[in-house]
Amino acid sequence: MTNMFCFQCEQTAGGKGCVKVGVCGKKPDVANKHDELTCAMVGLARAAQGKTPDRKADELMMQGLFATITNVNFDEGRINELKNLILAEKDKLGGAADLATDALWQGDPDLVSLRSTLLLGLRGMAAYAWHAYVLGKKDDEVTAWFYKGMRALGEEHIVGEWLDLLMEFGQVNLKCMALLDEANTSAYGHPVPVKVPTTIEKGPFIVVTGHDLPDLKQLLEQTEGKGINIYTNGEMLPAHGYPELKKHSHLKGNFGTAWHNQQKEFDGIPAPVLYTTNCLMPPRPSYADRIFTTAVVGYPDIEHIPEGNGKKDFTPVINKALELGGWEEDKKLTGINGGSELMTGFARNTVLEVAGKVIEAVKDGAIKHFFLVGGCDGARPARNYYTEFVKKAPADTVILTLGCGKYRFNDLDIGAIGGLAGAFNCGVNELPLTLVLSWYEQKAVCILLTLLSLNIKNIYLGPTLPAFISPNVLNVLVDKFNIKPISTPEADLEAILG
Ligand code: SF4
Repeated sequence: MTNMFCFQCEQTAGGKGCVKVGVCGKKPDVANKHDELTCAMVGLARAAQGKTPDRKADELMMQGLFATITNVNFDEGRINELKNLILAEKDKLGGAADLATDALWQGDPDLVSLRSTLLLGLRGMAAYAWHAYVLGKKDDEVTAWFYKGMRALGEEHIVGEWLDLLMEFGQVNLKCMALLDEANTSAYGHPVPVKVPTTIEKGPFIVVTGHDLPDLKQLLEQTEGKGINIYTNGEMLPAHGYPELKKHSHLKGNFGTAWHNQQKEFDGIPAPVLYTTNCLMPPRPSYADRIFTTAVVGYPDIEHIPEGNGKKDFTPVINKALELGGWEEDKKLTGINGGSELMTGFARNTVLEVAGKVIEAVKDGAIKHFFLVGGCDGARPARNYYTEFVKKAPADTVILTLGCGKYRFNDLDIGAIGGLAGAFNCGVNELPLTLVLSWYEQKAVCILLTLLSLNIKNIYLGPTLPAFISPNVLNVLVDKFNIKPISTPEADLEAILG
């Protein structure tokens, strides 16, 4: 029996789709409400055609798409609230029909596949756009594309038109990522390389997870001088590289590993956890009273810190940290391979600063190849591939990484080659570079579409291929871009390095 339909993430049931209940814990009522919200946004996009929507409508477009990303919002009431706000904005614009929810996932499998790819890419881009927006950055072309893309979901297109839309979207997402980079670096400075400890010092502390840097910044300011230490978790780790965040001496280190270990890692810690974005797994009763959400994240009966005219009040989180008190002694924790320090901060500026050194190292033969091994982490044992790949990559190769996939190997000491990756006077496909990507949720979808729109070829993708890519669409991607599923680290390294 089908209660719901969702196939947007890598852990989808049976590699096909969640139809009874989400593997992520999403209940059918919530999944169906996500669909209704999505279809209401198609209605809003239709109503906005040829008009200038309010700022509020733009915000709702981003928030509505962001809220439906995997592991973001499980709260039916909050999703309903968003939907009602969207319907009100639609009415202000003169109204239009919503898309029928049946139309989202039904029809010719190739057209469903292409339509879903666009929708999931839009969800991913909404997260990036929202992070930039809360830092005061907005790009009119990006904003307009949310409306264009959502309208397209409700239109009939032939395969070639869908592919053109996907490539156009990939280029717009590139602009959105540049916007976010500009938002983060103008607010907090360019990241610098830093070693992040994994030991938790004695005394009260707060764990902050997700991706929202302004939330972390406000929490750091509100805990200043209160004897509470702050630890990042998951994708908040890169925050340590930003000078304006790093300068807070009570931003001490990183707690835990990737998102899928949270139920084990948060169980029993004497501290609250603040979720600023995904990935939220259903909290176990043993720690649910120590969990707080904010922004678009939501879970029933979990305390939510609301927006407050650009300023949030984290007093409930702070009081919980003081009440729980933390550990009595320093607690030595490690990464998944036993390492006690994690590197971060190798962002664009740092990399370009050593471009000359890197080019020399390639010319001298000290660097034979670059691998970008990154993306999302997940629970499947097959993801050990990425740890083994990095361990087995020869010493004269450079590993670059991004996303929470890095927790598979970021505590390993794999050595250094006098510098980092760099810029060469040739096309990306001519570089001695291979992208070995792990995907899980929808931000990976928009990044993949951007890479393809840049005509980047020979990407290795795993641990499984997306369920929403139909066999025919996959054939197109293989023919045009030579995308390959990962096999074994040994075979793939042999094929790449020859
Ligand atoms: Fe299933 Fe993933 Fe959708 Fe959750 S987000 S319901 S696990 S496909």
